[in-house]
Amino acid sequence: MVEASGVHGPSDLHLHSLRSDGTEPPAAVVQAAHRHGLRTISLTDHDTTAGWAEAAEATASLGMTLIPGMEFSARHEWRSVHVLAYLFDPTDRALLAETERVRSDRIGRAERIVGNIARDYDLTWDDVLSATDSGATVGRPHIADALVQRGIVRDREEAFADILHPGSGYYVGHYAPDPLRAVELITAAGGVAVLAHPAARDRVLPDSVLLELIDAGLAGFELGHRENTVTGRRHLARLAARLDLIVTGSSDYHGLGKPNVPGEHTTADDMVARIIELGRGADPVYP
Ligand code: AMP
Ligand code: FE
Ligand code: FE
Ligand code: ZN
Repeated sequence: MVEASGVHGPSDLHLHSLRSDGTEPPAAVVQAAHRHGLRTISLTDHDTTAGWAEAAEATASLGMTLIPGMEFSARHEWRSVHVLAYLFDPTDRALLAETERVRSDRIGRAERIVGNIARDYDLTWDDVLSATDSGATVGRPHIADALVQRGIVRDREEAFADILHPGSGYYVGHYAPDPLRAVELITAAGGVAVLAHPAARDRVLPDSVLLELIDAGLAGFELGHRENTVTGRRHLARLAARLDLIVTGSSDYHGLGKPNVPGEHTTADDMVARIIELGRGADPVYP
């Protein structure tokens, strides 16, 4: 339904394709979203915009709206922090340099993890390469898929609970900027920065850091997400209301890689309208 805001909902602004660690091409992700009744979506592959063109063609053909997006990998101390970026300029030099650095470091890091695993299990780097779409942002999910193909684990979930867990002894981290730098880069590229699953266990940033991010341009929190805890979400909802931040809800769909279903959380039309209003680096792709 087209509201006064002009937004065509329901909207799910966080989905992954095999340009990163989803299991389907961008067009299939769009079709899955359409089947679940969504009319506005964002493809937010990790550290890449490689799926935008294919997603835009698919949304246009189905009468849907695409908000071009990305999920930018950052790190604060030991915490992996994900920053959703919407409507930024995909040719921005500084942002491109940083995502390129993250993506290339992820490759060497994945090779090192596989080298460690290979001490105890029959797994090779070639197994991982054959489980990864060419040019995709490489992550632990691709190693998980290779472990599944080798019959070592049943699914990604089991791989993450054990062999790929940071405490397993096989784990190696990858380069990622501080979230402050991530927010600055996204904002400088005309984009809208929204903190992904900010109340997920082991990810919660101290309020002092959140306030710094907000000062640097962080526009909102992804409050509706299956990994957010109830108490963390309540706390952030109060902060968002006090500071008039954008709040979103989304599925974080990864195809067969996670149980998350498109549309399991959605973003209100007025919040989507605020993101569109703020974004200056790229335009939504309307049908
Ligand atoms: P990485 O960025 O390479 O360290 O891998 C993290 C990615 O793994 C995240 O983007 C998640 O999508 C995915 N992930 C984390 N935990 C799980 C899980 N239990 N099952 C499936 N995927 C997961
Ligand atoms: Fe992921
Ligand atoms: Fe994430
Ligand atoms: Zn995600």
